[in-house]
Amino acid sequence: MPEFKTSPGTRDILAPDSGRWRAFQEVFAKTVEAAGYTLIIPPMFEDLDVFLRLGEATEVVTKEMYDFHDKGGRHVALRPEQTASVCRAFVEHRPTTPWKVWYAGPNFRYEKPQQGRYRQFDQVGIEALGTNDPFLDAEVIGLAAKFYSNLGLKRVKLAINTLGDGGDREKYAQKLLEYFSRHESSLTSESKATLARNPLRVLDSKREPDQEVIANAPAIRDTIGKEAGAHFESVLAALEAMNVSYEINNRLVRGLDYYRRTTFEFVSTALASAHTAIGGGGRYDGLVEALGGPATPGIGFALGLDRTLLACDAEGSFVAPKQAVEVFVVDTVDGSHAQTICNLLRENGVTADRAYDLRSMKAQMKAADRSGAAVALIIGEDEVQNSTIMLRPMNSGEQHSIARGDLVGEVMKALKK
Ligand code: AMP
Repeated sequence: MPEFKTSPGTRDILAPDSGRWRAFQEVFAKTVEAAGYTLIIPPMFEDLDVFLRLGEATEVVTKEMYDFHDKGGRHVALRPEQTASVCRAFVEHRPTTPWKVWYAGPNFRYEKPQQGRYRQFDQVGIEALGTNDPFLDAEVIGLAAKFYSNLGLKRVKLAINTLGDGGDREKYAQKLLEYFSRHESSLTSESKATLARNPLRVLDSKREPDQEVIANAPAIRDTIGKEAGAHFESVLAALEAMNVSYEINNRLVRGLDYYRRTTFEFVSTALASAHTAIGGGGRYDGLVEALGGPATPGIGFALGLDRTLLACDAEGSFVAPKQAVEVFVVDTVDGSHAQTICNLLRENGVTADRAYDLRSMKAQMKAADRSGAAVALIIGEDEVQNSTIMLRPMNSGEQHSIARGDLVGEVMKALKK
């Protein structure tokens, strides 16, 4: 047993998974940069207060934060998500609007670790600040859908709803309270307790006996004001024009205090576990203001990298890229030929690795095999004497001698480059 292991809820990401992670971020960057989003790299820790502005109602903030006092006595926290940091950056730098940014990187939440739920987990996401245009809502949602399809995912469902404007949610909560109170006898005791605290949360119940009452509960869509209603209709129409299919989910009212209007969630139907949500987001008002900036509308989403990759596993899509060098050099003379040859190949755009420690021919050939290289180059005393190199295509094993001066050309030919 090693003395040290990774902390609960954290992991080392090794090859080939690490290559898959990088490829994932590259596909994401390509998808969103095509729509004018630029990269933002916020710090991994901030003043605790930045995250507290997300609101008292969110567990992420109240229960799960990694916060501590640094040596200068500042109360800081590792970021549990990145929207708050992006809004803080907006207030700090005052960029021209609309400001469209993307990010990728780890977040930290003190949660109970389990499959698909970690204490350090990666997200990719976008945020667009400064306009209320419903076409932007559709663009943001459409980019998430496009990204999933670029990963080869097919079994992804988009659920969408509106939360109305400020005040609408409170009116809706009142309406729900009245409705659930009328049907209280049919609710589970857990939901009865939730009802007293927050009627909206009753909608989240997955308990079977609650389902019928929940299914007939009033929808927030019937409570919201005219403007928010028209906005929602425009977003839906824009999505339809883009051929993005969606399902309106009246129960999708979860989320942070600052969410307004459009809210959405992507679920993988290929995942059997409880954690089928692979991404979500929505419009937020008030957050920029809460952080000391001017009233500024914003919309964005965050997608969980770890969980989306689990969905890819379940669908057999987006497999880890092959990470083998093209050439492996075996030098049984003194090791210096391997060095010169590797350097020459690398300078010519061929990936190359070699054996070390002047091991036996057999051991070096084994290493060549393990490396996954398509071609092995072998140098022994005879080859040095004749200024030749033995070239062996690893799949056929039929080797032939080449002139040392023709090395690059011959390797290119063997690799069909
Ligand atoms: P949230 O920021 O809570 O809205 O989460 C957005 C997405 O991040 C979720 O849909 C998940 O895919 C992912 N996510 C959230 N929390 C975790 C976690 N603890 N471990 C892994 N993925 C997570």
